[in-house]
Amino acid sequence: MKIYNSLRRQLEDFVPLNPEQVSIYSCGPTVYDYIHMGNARTALVTDIIRRYLVYKGYNVKLVQNLTDIDDKIINRAAELGVSAKQLAHQNGEAFFEDSQRLGIQPADVHPKATEHIPEMIDLIQILLDKGAAYVIDGSVYYRVNQFAEYGKLSNRKPEDLLAGARVEIDERKEDPRDFDMWKAVKPGEPSWESPWGRGRPGWHIECSAMAMKHLGETIDIHAGGEDLQFPHHENEIAQSELATGTPFARYWMHVAFLKIDGKRMGKSEHNFILLRDALDNYPTEVIRHFLISAHYRHPLDYNRESLTKSEGALRRLNNCLDALKNYYEDIEPSHAVQEMKSQFTLAMDTDFNTAQALGAIFTLVGEVNKSLSTLDEAAAPVLAQAYQALTETCQVLGIYNTDTQIDDGDNVQQRDQMINLLLEIRQDARNRKDWETSDKIRDRLKELNIEIKDTREGTTWKIIS
Ligand code: AMP
Ligand code: ZN
Repeated sequence: MKIYNSLRRQLEDFVPLNPEQVSIYSCGPTVYDYIHMGNARTALVTDIIRRYLVYKGYNVKLVQNLTDIDDKIINRAAELGVSAKQLAHQNGEAFFEDSQRLGIQPADVHPKATEHIPEMIDLIQILLDKGAAYVIDGSVYYRVNQFAEYGKLSNRKPEDLLAGARVEIDERKEDPRDFDMWKAVKPGEPSWESPWGRGRPGWHIECSAMAMKHLGETIDIHAGGEDLQFPHHENEIAQSELATGTPFARYWMHVAFLKIDGKRMGKSEHNFILLRDALDNYPTEVIRHFLISAHYRHPLDYNRESLTKSEGALRRLNNCLDALKNYYEDIEPSHAVQEMKSQFTLAMDTDFNTAQALGAIFTLVGEVNKSLSTLDEAAAPVLAQAYQALTETCQVLGIYNTDTQIDDGDNVQQRDQMINLLLEIRQDARNRKDWETSDKIRDRLKELNIEIKDTREGTTWKIIS
């Protein structure tokens, strides 16, 4: 299995540090508002990485943090006239609710920054003791020139690093690249006690401290959106590696942006679609299908046509699986089914290429539909295998849920109930030897592309597409 490691900008074999348990840290949301579809893309990619590793037989420990103290939270809370704590709590709960609606399995730990202040203080103290930090007026800064490898993740040249850092000019810093790990309190802001006076943590130290507390000094996979590579992840590396002297994360994964009208979807760009609004308009599986329809390192554009395409694909998948449900037989996997499974695994093993994995699934769906339309008896055992393989792989991607209906005005559940009702009436007719009614129901259903079959166990039906 290979992962594209942003740290070395190449595909690398995935070898977990501890074969017993893969550790993953994913940078979660800053909870000042509801999450948008862009945030959802990154969260979903992490969910699928974890599901696939479990499918491959690994134990996985996933940690996804919540940044619940930050300038944006403080400013928004002031605008709304609520406390930062209250705003962060509400949006944290909304985040869990939205993630659950998208079928994202909860992480093993969802640490909150405000609940890890002592760990952050300890880490800052270690860096101060090593001469890698300095205090000015109650704020603590990281001394970038102490870390020779600074810039290795974002691969930026020293002059670009300077340009990036100058965005927040602070004359007191020794070097413009230095960044704050502890911010001295400002009037009216939430603050905590520290050896340097009251204040609050900087964003980068939060993730270093929480990742190390819950996953140890070296993590297998560290994930986040591509915007986090610099400075956030670069700074996480600088803090953690200087403190521990060991590599912080073995594989760095960065998810490309979800775009809208060709531009990054983002709060500050004012061009976002909230995940909860999208979920009010489309079933979970349709949104998941859309979000994984491109490989995670490729940009993806949010637009109506793409969502409609995903809706069509899901309808095709559901119809196919509905028809396949009636086949149960235990036999050797057929060539087509084996081929799909190996193509699926190959795609996912190659840096979690969900777009290609979907291609493998839908190729088999096409072949199954062909067999279903010919109603070839010999195909039945193969179809049973196909059902199993398709549900298994679709569940890794979270795009098949037996309870979900793709609403196209043709409610599948209601349709099934009506067909079953007609079959009951037909059975009553047969019991009273009313062959005319019985045959009429069979023939009329056939005209509607519903083929029925009388077996010793009862009558079964399937849709011929
Ligand atoms: P934030 O709440 O802005 O800290 O973002 C939470 C997560 O969503 C981070 O991992 C970001 O990198 C990611 N993210 C934000 N915007 C997008 C986007 N348009 N596409 C993909 N990921 C994004
Ligand atoms: Zn982070």
